Amino acid sequence: MSDVDSRPVALVTGASRGIGRAIAIDLAAAGFDLVLGYHSDRQGAEETAGRVASGSSAVSVGADLRDLSSGKVYVDAALGRFGRLDALINNAGIARDRRIRRMTDADWADVLAVDLGGAFSCSRAGASALAESPRGTIVNVSSIVGMNGNVGQANYAAAKGGLLAMTRSLAREFAPQGVTVNAVAPGFVLTDMTLTLPAEIIEANIAATPLARPGEPEDIASVVAWLVSSAARFVTGAVIPVDGGLSL
Ligand code: NAP
Repeated sequence: MSDVDSRPVALVTGASRGIGRAIAIDLAAAGFDLVLGYHSDRQGAEETAGRVASGSSAVSVGADLRDLSSGKVYVDAALGRFGRLDALINNAGIARDRRIRRMTDADWADVLAVDLGGAFSCSRAGASALAESPRGTIVNVSSIVGMNGNVGQANYAAAKGGLLAMTRSLAREFAPQGVTVNAVAPGFVLTDMTLTLPAEIIEANIAATPLARPGEPEDIASVVAWLVSSAARFVTGAVIPVDGGLSL
């Protein structure tokens, strides 16, 4: 099915804004056609599509990653529109921060479902197409919280830590097919996810970052683009902190 002469195709979940949008823009510049996943913000996904390199085709697809069948919706869109899938970027994520005594069943279930279940659903749906690609690859967007934990983020840390364990497992499982599986672990990045935090939390995160600034979505995207490129062809099962030193 994969035609080595046609353009490679990337599926980026959570591409309607923030880090996912920056990843989409970088991958288009690297020559990928794109499936731009979103949940409810179709307009945001269309705005991303409008910002990608002019030679790149991009299709926006909405599906709720809390539903384990959603990965198939995204992957079917890639195969239907482009006939191939070469890179899967499991980027979509949510946070519902609360100390555990006040954390609701929904806070727990929704974060685990989107941040961990979503990556499972897309990886399962994309497995066969990625194996057929000349250089199939998965990049999971985790967090340094998945390595170190954080107060008020038991749900998020469990999901992001689970995502790192899944990254290593799938790296082993996919290696015989030549598919690489890696993760990035961003630190504190200014996006809709963090801009709603109290000012003192934002300032504390910046103060704790040795490079003394918040991350920009582009800081994460450029590392993802490298992991997807042939320059990283011998890298699999790796977790790369992209955090200005925050996790040191
Ligand atoms: P963001 O700006 O809040 O964007 C979240 C994206 O995920 C949106 O595109 C959203 O789609 C999508 N999404 C949310 N719920 C979904 C669902 N149920 N089904 C499908 N898509 C859904 O977040 P961000 O800061 O760019 O974060 C991107 C990734 O980086 C996340 O995995 C996050 O955990 C991780 N990360 C972020 C930071 C940070 O400091 N910002 C740090 C470490 C890790 P809609 O727009 O349609 O809702």
